[in-house]
Formats: sequence, structure tokens, C-alpha cells
Amino acid sequence: MTDGLSTRAVHAGEIADPHGAPHTPVYSTTTFRFACTADILDVIEGRKSGSLYTRYGLNPTIQALETKLAALEAAEAAWAFCSGMAAEAALFFAHGSKGIVCVGDAYGGTLELLDSQLRGLGIPVHLLLGKELDRLEQHLAHGARLVFLETPTNPALEILDIAAIASRAHRHGALLCVDNTFASPVNQNPLALGADFVVHSATKYLGGHSDLTAGALMGSKELLTPIWNWRKNLGSTIAPETAAQLARSLRTLVVRVERQNHSAQTVAEAMARHPRVQRVLYPGLANFPGHALAKAQMRGFGGMLSIEVKGGGAAATQVADGLKLFALAPSLGGAESLVTQPCTTTHHGLPPEERARRGISDGMLRLSIGLEDPADLLADLERALGEAG
Ligand code: PLP
Repeated sequence: MTDGLSTRAVHAGEIADPHGAPHTPVYSTTTFRFACTADILDVIEGRKSGSLYTRYGLNPTIQALETKLAALEAAEAAWAFCSGMAAEAALFFAHGSKGIVCVGDAYGGTLELLDSQLRGLGIPVHLLLGKELDRLEQHLAHGARLVFLETPTNPALEILDIAAIASRAHRHGALLCVDNTFASPVNQNPLALGADFVVHSATKYLGGHSDLTAGALMGSKELLTPIWNWRKNLGSTIAPETAAQLARSLRTLVVRVERQNHSAQTVAEAMARHPRVQRVLYPGLANFPGHALAKAQMRGFGGMLSIEVKGGGAAATQVADGLKLFALAPSLGGAESLVTQPCTTTHHGLPPEERARRGISDGMLRLSIGLEDPADLLADLERALGEAG
């Protein structure tokens, strides 16, 4: 019988410590010594698995973390990286050289890597919004072999149909990767819906405390194997100290995210009733356009929501600046609640017309709901909204 998610989060991958520690020790070392050359050759030539060199990921602390990461997405394997962007870059180099289609809105760094850097290297890159999905087949027919998407998207929380897009990609021999950062493995498992890879900025919910930077990529052993050399030679493996910190965070992932789901739902419902709020974007609201699809493919609706403040950009800035418990910071997934105005931070680089095309209004505030008491978060929002009147 497969263990439940919480049990896997606590126990998967932990290695037996000779001194009896209940979890994997930190192997804070760059290399490992061998008794003789024959033993080194056994590891290098793949006859035996073992520790070798930390940048290769062949370090027990990193390997223990990877077993836990794979277990959380019910994947065959996982690689851990020094950031979410490092994980994406290794994936794009290993599987995207014939062309990449990014569907829907995505994290600004992902769009910049695709649109500027990878396109500049001659890799065909196509960026489609969710409403332009009818053009997917056209790009796949011209040879793109990797489809990439986030769901829910940032910051409009658009929900994309993972199973439908996976089967459209597969019909053309392409692979699908889903950035599952916003949902976390507690709320959504894209591999079970037909995706070939899942990528996480582990900096967010997996780390969960705004104190580490890391990334993770999960999938089948066969598809992850070509990515291993890219990680090794780009030098983008996670450090063992960060791996141990991340493994510790993962043991509490389920309780943190379930609490954040619940608090976000409470805040979203209260904001939907607030006279100074034009619109609330949250998949857990029955009148949200992606609600039915979110209900079908997610187990929880997540800790992220966006609100549109009446009065536009200046009014939203006043609210953001007036919040005291919510920190004004452009990240997400931590214990502390954060607020950001996308037009001034994550999407500041886009021209206003492009922001409008993506449904990102100047009055939009993105909230990352943390682990504080929801009543205190609501009091902070209500006070800041009242003062900005
Ligand atoms: N994916 C999403 C959805 C993100 O929000 C981010 C960062 O904000 C990334 C990927 C990149 O992750 P990292 O900052 O760990 O490189």
C-alpha cells in the first residue's frame, strides 16, 4: 500500500543514521574518499551507486532529498537544483532544443529566459496565452517538442487543463512540463494528469519560510536522465546544506499548505464582499471562471489570490503601502503573508498594452497568504482598504 502524502513528506528518503538521528544528516562535503581505484571505477562506470562528488548530486543528503521530492509528486525520480530557474534552464536545454511552446502566463523570469536568452541561441520559442491555445497544434506541427505551462497562473490565477494539453502535446510527440509552484504537490499532481515533468521553485511553498532558494524537477527516470548532465555541467546542483533545510521544510509541507488553503479561501470570500474591491481572482470562489476545472484537477485551491482595488493603480499602491501585517515583497509561499502589485514588480517590465492583454490591471494586488490568523490578515486588509478610500 502506498503511504499517504503526509507520511511520505515525513519519511520518504530518510536514510538510517548510524548514530540514530531520526532524519538524514547533512553531508557537508564536496567529495567522498574511496578505499581503492576499483571502487571509484565501480561508481564512475555505473556498476554501483554511491557518493562521489557533490556537484554531480552524488551526495547522500541531496539523494535523500530527491527521493522525498519524487515521493511528493508520485514520480519515479527527481533532481534538486540551486533554484527554480536552474531547474527550468536544465530542462529547456535537455528537451527544448527543437522548439518550446509556453502556454498561458508564466513567471517573468521564465518568460525572459525563453523569449530573450533561448530564442537568442536559435531555439524556436512560441509564447501563447490561454485564450490562444488553438494555435498550439500549429507550433507542434512545425517541430516544437516541449510544452511548458503554469497552472494556476501568476498573477491572474488562470486554470489550464493539464490532461487536455498533455494529450494534445503527446499526439505530436511532444512532452509537457507543468510548473506546479503555485499549487504545490499538496493541491495538484500534474504527472497523474498526464504531464511528463513537474518543475517547482522550491524557494516558495516547498521551502515555505522565505529563507532558502532551490528548485526541483520530477518525472520518469528515462526523461530525467538527459537532464542530469546539464545540471552537472551547468553546475546548478543544490548545496547539501540547502538540501537538508529543504527536506526539513518538506516534513511540514502538508500542514502548512492545508492551513494556507483554508486561510486564502476565508480572505477571498471576505474580499469578494468588500465594497472597495472590484474583483477577486481565486480558484476557490464558485463564480471564478476556472473554478470547475480547478475543482476537477486540484485537491485544494492554494494560498495565492489576487484582488482588484476600485480606483486603479494609485488606489492599489495606497493599499499595498498601507498594509502592516502583509509584507510588501515579490515572492510567495512563506509563513509570512506577502503583497505585491504586479504592475510595479513582477510584470513591471511589460508595456501596459501587454499587461492588459494578459489581464493584469494596474489595480491588481497579488496576495500570498501565510500562516498568521486569518482574522488578523482580514483586519489588516480592511484597515488598509478603508484608509485608501
Ligand atoms: N516559477 C514560478 C511560478 C515562480 O514564481 C518563480 C519565482 O518567483 C520561479 C519559477 C523561479 O524560481 P526561483 O526564484 O527559485 O529561481
